[in-house]
Amino acid sequence: MARRRQIYEGKAKILYEGPEPGTLIQYFKDDATAFNAQKRGTISGKGVINNRISEHIFTSLAAIGVPTHFIRRLNMREQLIRQVEIIPVEVVVRNVAAGSLSKRLGIEEGTQLPRTIIEYYYKDDALGDPMIADEHIACFGWATQDEMNDIADMAIRVNDFLSGMFAAIGIRLIDFKLEFGRIWDGDFSRVILADEISPDGCRLWDIKTNQKLDKDRFRQDLGGVEEAYQEVARRLGLLQPDDDFAVLDLDSHRKKRGR
Ligand code: UDP
Repeated sequence: MARRRQIYEGKAKILYEGPEPGTLIQYFKDDATAFNAQKRGTISGKGVINNRISEHIFTSLAAIGVPTHFIRRLNMREQLIRQVEIIPVEVVVRNVAAGSLSKRLGIEEGTQLPRTIIEYYYKDDALGDPMIADEHIACFGWATQDEMNDIADMAIRVNDFLSGMFAAIGIRLIDFKLEFGRIWDGDFSRVILADEISPDGCRLWDIKTNQKLDKDRFRQDLGGVEEAYQEVARRLGLLQPDDDFAVLDLDSHRKKRGR
């Protein structure tokens, strides 16, 4: 069989040419990076879990009318997606102060924000993804004002939906990152949700214990990283309770490892 043509390799995923024009295959790796790729590692089984979680979330979002690039999952690590022109803007939605917001503005991590905040970052590794304003996006032509209005509307809908979905399984959605892409139909284009939604790009805290169930466990060397991702998948009903993966007690894991 002919080797598939690789279109792009990122930090956590590889994109291959798809079976039909306008499609791609998105392959989920176990590789993890943080702090603009200064910290690197692998999280065993992460690719399999993120593929599954992202499938679940994108399918649910499509069902409430949010257009996405997702077509179908192909196997454990791959999904078929629509090819888009990626808009080089990372859209971060925040409900609770954490991460760079806490650091930059000196707001204690865990502080509930009085209103949801949307922030934009220019997607450029060499520049370290700098924060930008609406004006920069329009000025440099990264997206039109109409596209940005659609993006902000979709980001709020995604936040409302995901906040409820996670609350129902005892998880607080602190913040998350979205990426969008443009698809063309003749002379017309529209913007759809792209990339992935998984514990790699979300902060997810247990509602009762505030335990972190996301990539901060990797960023901050908290241990129990694999187990945290599995716990999110398990609570979403995507793993069987008697699955090998189902080691649930993150604290006992830390004790075992002496952390
Ligand atoms: N995020 C991401 N990719 C990035 C930067 C941020 O997925 O390149 C996510 C991150 O996981 C968190 C949210 O966006 O859920 C907000 O991240 P923040 O700005 O606090 O940056 P960080 O603390 O990760 O540097």
